[in-house]
Amino acid sequence: MQKMNKFDVIVVGAGPAGLLAAGRAAENGANVLILEKMEREGRKLLITGKGRCNITNDASISEFIKHVYPNGRMLKKAFSNYYNKDIIELLKKYGVNSTLERGGRYFPSSNQSKDVLKALLLWINKLNVKVKCNSKVELILTKDNKVTGVKAAGSSYVTNNVVIATGGKSYPATGSTGDGYELAKKLGHTLVKARPALVPLETSGSTAQELQGLNLKNVKASVWINGKKAGDDFGEMIFTHFGLSGPIILTLSRIVVEELHKKSKVEIRIDLKPALDEQKLDSRLLRDLNDHGKKKVINILKYWLPSTMVPVFIKILKVDPQKECHQVSSKERKQIRHLLKNLPFKITNHRSFKEAIITSGGILTNEIISKTMESKIISGLYFAGEIIDVDAETGGYNLQIAYSTGWLAGDSCSKN
Ligand SMILES: Cc1cc2nc3c(=O)[nH]c(=O)nc-3n(C[C@H](O)[C@H](O)[C@H](O)COP(=O)(O)OP(=O)(O)OC[C@H]3O[C@@H](n4cnc5c(N)ncnc54)[C@H](O)[C@@H]3O)c2cc1C
Repeated sequence: MQKMNKFDVIVVGAGPAGLLAAGRAAENGANVLILEKMEREGRKLLITGKGRCNITNDASISEFIKHVYPNGRMLKKAFSNYYNKDIIELLKKYGVNSTLERGGRYFPSSNQSKDVLKALLLWINKLNVKVKCNSKVELILTKDNKVTGVKAAGSSYVTNNVVIATGGKSYPATGSTGDGYELAKKLGHTLVKARPALVPLETSGSTAQELQGLNLKNVKASVWINGKKAGDDFGEMIFTHFGLSGPIILTLSRIVVEELHKKSKVEIRIDLKPALDEQKLDSRLLRDLNDHGKKKVINILKYWLPSTMVPVFIKILKVDPQKECHQVSSKERKQIRHLLKNLPFKITNHRSFKEAIITSGGILTNEIISKTMESKIISGLYFAGEIIDVDAETGGYNLQIAYSTGWLAGDSCSKN
């Protein structure tokens, strides 16, 4: 029995990082076991990209690294060994073609994340990787700072190589509940505080709620910290029952979460007319007000705004909406212009890990050898994927980090 539980490599977690680590180690001839605590593999992978899975990004390595925080450079070695073309090729070999979309984003041509998972499972299955589900790893055993085994769900396993690929803490229903942090902490690793990232934001007042469901394209959102501009992004966003969400809000949430924890005053301002500078917008308003001099202000706002926004806009605007356009003073025109370019939202909180696309923080990168992904503290212990203190913007970057670090960890530990 003891003999049966002996493996060259044990991978903890069957997400994309764990699957790549296991597959690569098996390609090198290792006898590999994956222990997964959920009833099946890759639950988070299935919900990626709203079920479509944004597989990776077309960016060059140097461009890619600019989208990674806080230390994308530590991934250079992992990327130089295994990058976007490699995962695309692997998936193709197992029946999944990819399509390149706007922003360098690759998706499976079938638009089905389940096809990506199926291909990865076919690959590891062909390589005889064993997968044991419903097996939560509780302890990693060591002797003299070397890995000797693993305890999971009442069973003991013998190995000298463990890859921890347990993910972060976001969307805990998928199995990513931060277990790996505890396993690593017990072995002496330092944890950079885990925080929700790429996360929707809550606002005060009722403006966002009243606009619930409204999706805005081609707008610019800027984040203001204690009255100073700290960043902006252009693209798409959505109003929800609690506040703001959508791609540009998720990107800005990186700055916001940090500042909210510092108790800073945080505001998001939305520029509804980013293509027009103040002067051009003013000329446009002047022209419309002159052309429709006899109309009431309330009736021409729809020329400048989505119609569902008009009542909310009027509430904030300090101009009488029943006024005829020819009566609008230059001061009032300035107010309209200002609000069109700076619709303000006070941010009171961020949503929890339950709704965060990823987790920032994790295992301190200084404690990991970036050429191998091995721990600098425990010999035979490796890290891969979101558990490491690196995370990226949306665009397929986070999954590529998981594949590349997984592949490198699997490659290194099987040569150990
Ligand atoms: C809604 C959503 C959409 C996303 N869309 C995209 C996208 O389109 N493109 C993109 O690049 N990224 C996307 N991401 C991010 C991406 O899914 C993650 O960065 C990626 O899954 C991380 O991979 P991982 O293998 O490190 O961890 P995970 O995928 O979290 O896998 C970790 C695995 O470890 C298992 N585990 C945990 N603890 C234990 C334990 N004690 N014992 C055994 N097993 C354990 C878990 O059950 C889980 O199966 C999305 C995330 C979310 C939440």
